Amino acid sequence: MAEKMARPVIVVHGGADFTVQIDNKQAIVDGLCKAARRGYEILQSEDSNAVRAVVEAVSVLEDDENFNAGRGSTLNRDGKIQTDAMVMNGKNLKCGGVSAVMNIANPVYLAEQVMEKTNHCLLTAQYANDFAKKVGMETVDMETLMSPRSRRLLESISIAREEGRVNDAKKETVLGKDTGKDTVGAIALDKNGNLACATSTGGLSLALPGRVGDSALPGCGGYADNHFGACSTTGIGEDIMRVNMATRAMYYLEQGQSAQDAAVNSVQYLVDRLKPSDSKGCLAGLIVIDKQGNIGIHCSHDFLCFASIKNGKIQYGINPDEFESTGL
Ligand code: ASP
Repeated sequence: MAEKMARPVIVVHGGADFTVQIDNKQAIVDGLCKAARRGYEILQSEDSNAVRAVVEAVSVLEDDENFNAGRGSTLNRDGKIQTDAMVMNGKNLKCGGVSAVMNIANPVYLAEQVMEKTNHCLLTAQYANDFAKKVGMETVDMETLMSPRSRRLLESISIAREEGRVNDAKKETVLGKDTGKDTVGAIALDKNGNLACATSTGGLSLALPGRVGDSALPGCGGYADNHFGACSTTGIGEDIMRVNMATRAMYYLEQGQSAQDAAVNSVQYLVDRLKPSDSKGCLAGLIVIDKQGNIGIHCSHDFLCFASIKNGKIQYGINPDEFESTGL
């Protein structure tokens, strides 16, 4: 007897931020919808495959310079682009990640190769680049990954250097505060009931070279388990790692919470445990689906841009509480 088919669902995000004051809202929303449609196409096809859907959806966002991932990634303190990415298959819990890699246009493809072609979960820095060469992945000039936004940041870094602020970690962080939090991610449920997640980022602006964020790490930047659900996170990686926020979302689903409650409570747990002293507080957000394809989206602040497709309807917005819907 044929197994009951699941109804495919995809959700993508383009990162969390402290504020909704952005001037390229339409471009952001268009990019997210394009990525969601690309993933949904794969989910709808005969070879409906959640892993391929999230990887392709994330690659669309990596190619879009409006997001801090792949092309458009922000810069580290040396003025260089270094990226982190991960992918996870909820069917067999296989995962692959890369951290602090340079000169790769689509780090999510490299993460997928780590998952498919090695026995490891994570390769880092130059060694991940060596692996990229081995699997025939093209290396690109850093210049081709730079967006106008990163070029502006590069200018600010040079000015800060000239003004002798280069060793002032706090001031440098302030300099980059609005430029490096547009990580991208995707989660999906395919027709066979399999779940997957993928996340990709240029990290936090002006981070120390070699800094690894949450986005490469299973349990932090994302998680997928067919028994419970899938999620992809965004926000300050250091905070997310401290509470393993993606694992926490799975824990809440396992306890029987709805996808939305799991998303809200994961962020709340982070905020409660880390008790931010800063006026802006912690920044953390995530997208979640449970194994039935119910969706949860939540962020500690107003801005978490996303798009989702379910039952042939697309919903999108730059804030989980304010969204629009249309047919596909
Ligand atoms: N979590 C990412 C990082 O810390 C940044 C983000 O989500 O925007 O690298």
